[in-house]
Amino acid sequence: MKWKQQLDGMQAYKPGKPIEEVQREFGLQEVVKLASNENPFGCSPKVTAYLHNSAVNHALYPDGYAQNLRTTVANHVGVKETQLLFGNGSDDIIAILTRALLYPGVNTIMADPSFSQYAHNAEIEGAEVRKIPCIDGAHDLDAMAAAIDEHTSIVWVCSPNNPTGVVIADTDLRAFLAKVPSDVLVVLDEAYIEYVTHPGHKETLPLINEYPNVLLMRTFSKAYGLASFRVGYAIGQPEVIAKLDPVRAPFNNTILSQAVAAIALNDQDYIKNCCKANELGKKQYVDFCEKHNLKYYPSDTNFILFDTKANSDVVFQELMKRGFIIRSGNALGAPGFIRVTIGTEAQNAALLQHLEAVLQEQGVFA
Ligand SMILES: *Cc1c(COP(=O)(O)O)cnc(C)c1O
Repeated sequence: MKWKQQLDGMQAYKPGKPIEEVQREFGLQEVVKLASNENPFGCSPKVTAYLHNSAVNHALYPDGYAQNLRTTVANHVGVKETQLLFGNGSDDIIAILTRALLYPGVNTIMADPSFSQYAHNAEIEGAEVRKIPCIDGAHDLDAMAAAIDEHTSIVWVCSPNNPTGVVIADTDLRAFLAKVPSDVLVVLDEAYIEYVTHPGHKETLPLINEYPNVLLMRTFSKAYGLASFRVGYAIGQPEVIAKLDPVRAPFNNTILSQAVAAIALNDQDYIKNCCKANELGKKQYVDFCEKHNLKYYPSDTNFILFDTKANSDVVFQELMKRGFIIRSGNALGAPGFIRVTIGTEAQNAALLQHLEAVLQEQGVFA
């Protein structure tokens, strides 16, 4: 068949192992998954209550324009309804963007390591991928700006960055945007924006007015605890959204997804409480790293990336045997490191106890 040449040797995304698989493989009763940055507390109880009582007609197509969710998000964010594009998760938004803007002959720029789907989708479209190494977990925005040429179509900026957790300060972001030509789309992926506490970070929404080539991307999969429902969205100038909208599949969010996302967004107290708990949980990991002199990156997210001073694939495997699924940095472009989602206080304490034993075994503390 006449496959796109770029599909040769391409692998499907390898997610963290599912809990059930690890239970079966290692004969474990209880397995804790701290691998995909889901909210360990789940979603708002208002969503759960809705799901127990909802009487949706599943025979009908959803509202393709997601009107109710659109109004809710527009009011919450403070933008016009025409400034929003909804996706089946932000993964879908990434696919829409690459499909609309990338093709053989153009290039796209991103940090390394960063979220894998930017490069993956760009490769499918046959565009050249330019990966700019991070400096200490942070985007090298000067080098990224310098890599732009007349064939650059999209620059991906992930803030806070996955997998390093590092957020970009407002002054740095603005200095970068001032250097980007106005016909290059800058996608600011803010999947973890709810967790940010860094004092140098400022509200990013005004940027889309100052720089109409900026698109913000947010999701209900992380802090909102709705990863299974697949809802993400982009915020940009109406002209940018209007160009992207025809590329979107007509019914890319389900009726239930639209309903629960709106309910979750209206329960900001719940999000605040989750973020508070996350700060305390983060401290458990930071204290552990400090105690054992392990290098970690300052995280403004619900995960932390740190050096184990051991083979991180081995650490991953050993923790899995003990009932904890995390991510090895080897699979994320950060060899030797592990990325752990910050769980509940008890989950963090248990994981760190096991990790201490594993690192002891591996001779790290010798
Ligand atoms: C999790 C994540 C996404 C994808 O989120 P979905 O909305 O579930 O598709 C996008 N970007 C980053 C940086 C993420 O970590």
